[in-house]
Amino acid sequence: MATDDEGDIGDAIDALAEGTAMIQAAATGEVLEALPEDSVAEGAAMVAFLRLEGVLTEVTENEPEEMKVACVEGCAWCCYIGHAGISAPEAVALARHIEDDLDEETRVVVQARVEEAAERATLRTPMQRWRDREPCAFLDVDTRACRVYQARPLRCRGWNSVDASACEQSFERRRDDVDVPTNRVRFLLAASTEDGQARAFESSGRDHRRGEMAQSVQLAMAEPDLAVRWARGEPVFDDILTDDELV
Ligand code: SF4
Ligand code: SF4
Repeated sequence: MATDDEGDIGDAIDALAEGTAMIQAAATGEVLEALPEDSVAEGAAMVAFLRLEGVLTEVTENEPEEMKVACVEGCAWCCYIGHAGISAPEAVALARHIEDDLDEETRVVVQARVEEAAERATLRTPMQRWRDREPCAFLDVDTRACRVYQARPLRCRGWNSVDASACEQSFERRRDDVDVPTNRVRFLLAASTEDGQARAFESSGRDHRRGEMAQSVQLAMAEPDLAVRWARGEPVFDDILTDDELV
């Protein structure tokens, strides 16, 4: 049976999750009403990225020492997990970032890696890819830096650990049962941001599914009109792996 303190903490966590989702849904709804068809998808992704970054910065300034995350540039054991699902607007934002902001050499490498990863995603489950320690298509495996850091998905922004050596052990031992201590509040904030975004998409009649990351971005790169089709309410993720198929 849960103690009163545990019950209070559980209630506070539920309230934080619901509050975050509601605020994100409202902010996304405003963007969906305000922006034109060709920029609304990217705008919806950006408002989620910016809100979450703002909240995470506040958390960083106020959290206790034992909850400080160990995540730093060049630490990337978690970038081999390959489970991230992203919304259509996140895919559009990533594709535009690759097209507009990467230098040509990096862009060519990233586009090729995305195509390979999208193909592999049809052949192996996310769990098989994790067990194979397949790097994310956006990871520079030499520098261990994310090549699309500015436009990285919401899931990546909330992912964390307070002990990098536990992440390394989990990676090296190829075991799923290594206990990696995390800052649960950060996970919760990112997941609730995803939830709020999806609620706004669904209630406005847009495709609110999350697609396999590489397949979603490949689709957005190959079909420049994907952003407009999504804005018009078309089911743009019908032909790729989504939601339940990603587990
Ligand atoms: S979650 Fe672990 S592997 Fe990923 S950046 Fe943080 S400490 Fe490093
Ligand atoms: S998008 Fe970037 S941060 Fe996210 S898993 Fe890939 S390399 Fe890591």
